[in-house]
Amino acid sequence: MRTKIVAGNWKMNNDKQETKVLIEQLQDSIENLSLENTRVLVAPTFVNLSSAVALANNSKIEVVAQNMHQAANGAFTGEISAAMLKSVGVHSVILGHSERRTFFGETDALLAEKVDTTLANNMEAIFCFGELLEDRKSGNHFNVVESQLKNGLFHLEAAAWKQIVLAYEPVWAIGTGETASPEQAQEMHAFIRKIIKDHYNQEVADAVSILYGGSVKPSNAEEIFSKADVDGGLIGGAALNATDFSAIIKAI
Ligand code: PEP
Repeated sequence: MRTKIVAGNWKMNNDKQETKVLIEQLQDSIENLSLENTRVLVAPTFVNLSSAVALANNSKIEVVAQNMHQAANGAFTGEISAAMLKSVGVHSVILGHSERRTFFGETDALLAEKVDTTLANNMEAIFCFGELLEDRKSGNHFNVVESQLKNGLFHLEAAAWKQIVLAYEPVWAIGTGETASPEQAQEMHAFIRKIIKDHYNQEVADAVSILYGGSVKPSNAEEIFSKADVDGGLIGGAALNATDFSAIIKAI
């Protein structure tokens, strides 16, 4: 059975105190849930990772990072390495979020390097990808997604996929209030699983968790999560509010 995952990407929000409050509120709201086969992740900003890990210790919440540099160390001002993340107890990292691709120029080739660094450090990569509105309108969305996956991940050996989580995030649905319909999400997730099967095998395709991201909220989460190939969500805006985020967790 595939692991279900609900992950909150907090982006550049929440100072140290706000991080504490949100983690404590979230803990209170989910502590009595039986989260069998389900992981709850939150991704605070770098400076709050260490305190978040301490707060989330012995709870149902795992703390992950929003980004990471591909090099082991060196003259890369402002960057963070895999070893640094691990040294504060973070073992999973979001890579390739559309905001990293769009605002920070992250390419498929760079992301392939970041994935390699992640795996070489025995960490987990939550690999994001998804098409722009113009790709969807021109009917090119399947090609775009296929090439993002091929260029970013298909150099990996099958065994490495145990450390990969996928997050399909159509860019036109991120932070816009516009959500892919559950049918659109399912159609794309099934396509993703098929190309993984074709390149690797059925076992790899069946095992990988594929999250949907893009304006998931309490009102639409249950329907999206009910689709066969949707294994959870990567949540932006709604993850900043403990009531909304825990409602989304309950929906899974
Ligand atoms: C995201 O940034 O990954 C995201 C899905 O954001 P939102 O839920 O706000 O659309």
